[in-house]
Amino acid sequence: MAIYEAIDSPGPRRRLRLRSPVTLEPIGELECASEEDVRAALERARKAQPAWGELPVDERAVYLQRVSEVLLEKQDLVMQTVLRETGKAPSEAFSMEVFASLDALAYYAKRAPRWLRPEKRRIHGVLGLAKQLRIEYRPLGVVGIIVPWNGPFVLAMNQAAQALVAGNAVLLKGSEVTPYSTRLVGELFEEAGLPEGVLQVLMGDGGTGAALVEAGVDKISFTGSVATGRRVAEVCGRNLTPVSLELGGKDAMIVCADADLDRAAAAALIGSCMNTGQYCCGTERIYAVDAIYEPFVAKVVERASALRQGATGEFDVGAIFWDKQLAIIERHVAEALAKGARVLVGGRRNPELSGLYYEPTVLVDVDHSMQIMRDETFGPIVCIQRASDEEEALRLANDSPYGLSGTVFTKDKARGIELARQLQTGGVCVNDMTLTYGVPEAPFGGRKESGVGQVNGRKGLRGYCHEMPILIDRFGGKLQGGYPYTTRSLEGAKKFARFYFGTPLARWLS
Ligand code: NAD
Repeated sequence: MAIYEAIDSPGPRRRLRLRSPVTLEPIGELECASEEDVRAALERARKAQPAWGELPVDERAVYLQRVSEVLLEKQDLVMQTVLRETGKAPSEAFSMEVFASLDALAYYAKRAPRWLRPEKRRIHGVLGLAKQLRIEYRPLGVVGIIVPWNGPFVLAMNQAAQALVAGNAVLLKGSEVTPYSTRLVGELFEEAGLPEGVLQVLMGDGGTGAALVEAGVDKISFTGSVATGRRVAEVCGRNLTPVSLELGGKDAMIVCADADLDRAAAAALIGSCMNTGQYCCGTERIYAVDAIYEPFVAKVVERASALRQGATGEFDVGAIFWDKQLAIIERHVAEALAKGARVLVGGRRNPELSGLYYEPTVLVDVDHSMQIMRDETFGPIVCIQRASDEEEALRLANDSPYGLSGTVFTKDKARGIELARQLQTGGVCVNDMTLTYGVPEAPFGGRKESGVGQVNGRKGLRGYCHEMPILIDRFGGKLQGGYPYTTRSLEGAKKFARFYFGTPLARWLS
């Protein structure tokens, strides 16, 4: 049964009926914002933004603290909403959505005033004698933020908080599958007293997202699939709208001969099955070297067999959030089996649960001829391929159109760093599952088809600003050269250049 279906609409807006992946029961209806709604929202945002953008950063940061207090109070509501729409494990709803959001709010509330205050920058060489340079971090204006369904609260909260504290107004669009979790971001900010129009949440599907990209905002921050990211980039390219793209992945884990196999097996499981495998930096391919292949697989199988899947109470692995994804998982597994892969654990829908549940699965004898090792599967599947040695593991890991993140397991830290440097991905974790999105100090973003640009941290926050240089003449323009050009002044300039760039003292000065 489909998670959402179109229903008759009396007006011009598309209407969708949503079902919970846990029970498949209807959980609400969604009226998709039309192009006109998006335009009207943009107009409201344009009116609200100037006053918001002129507030000192530390005053804007106070709203992040306030929304954090509201979130602390309302964490159960956030968890319930996320659980109803996604069926993820409650511990994941807490850690990924609530805790990570609180952490991001605290992080940017504290640092934004420092990172966005105007700064003086020294100018090198002789020009520095005559000029002063001041850098102002000016808001871009109105930012469109589009997020997917796998982290419907945190991905929205994290980017919205950064764009807002940087002085922008925000139009935020969540996924059609998880609209209420994303809408909560707007509701919490409203409760925190954010001025009207500064953050508006647009409810809708891909059509609403496309209207937002076309609307003429000043930046698009897009998180989602490669296919949609490409479409978004094309429109942004045509309209010259700045854009950051955080896209899909097919992350590899390399397990070296000297790895701590218990830790590596534990990370293989959590890396592959967290968020029911619907994690952009999920471990989708594991290359275990020959020397430890058998014991490593045995440990993974033991742990996978102990995982509890469920819908209520205590459990480790939850639902697949969207039937569309379940179909992809089933297709990838079936194709892999047809080409010779073997299932050691799971490998089917969970027959005991009525919603969208696919059992935690361990597959071996996989190779790169199979879709499951090439395309994003986004399911609770641990795929392990034998590699003759670390060099082969590295070559296989890099044999992918994606490059979001990756992991390396070895007891030799220097070797871990060396392998990490050679992985063609956005970031790497050594001896742990991928956690970089939750570490804002680490710039986050994919290479190859996994994205364009990096988000989070100082760089990500400043990405929501225009870094504006203001160059001031110390002498009120009195020393300015210029017309009329004369042969004498040209010869003088040449002499000066010979001295300035040709002597050690002058090189030191510059
Ligand atoms: P998706 O691309 O289908 O949709 C993402 C968002 O874009 C949704 O809100 C959707 O309504 C909207 N959208 C759809 N068509 C659009 C269009 N033409 N113009 C503008 N917006 C449009 O992705 P999804 O299936 O919702 O999310 C899963 C994908 O997101 C996976 O590939 C996953 O790896 C990726 N992801 C990446 C990161 C990251 O940080 N790199 C984080 C989470 C998820």
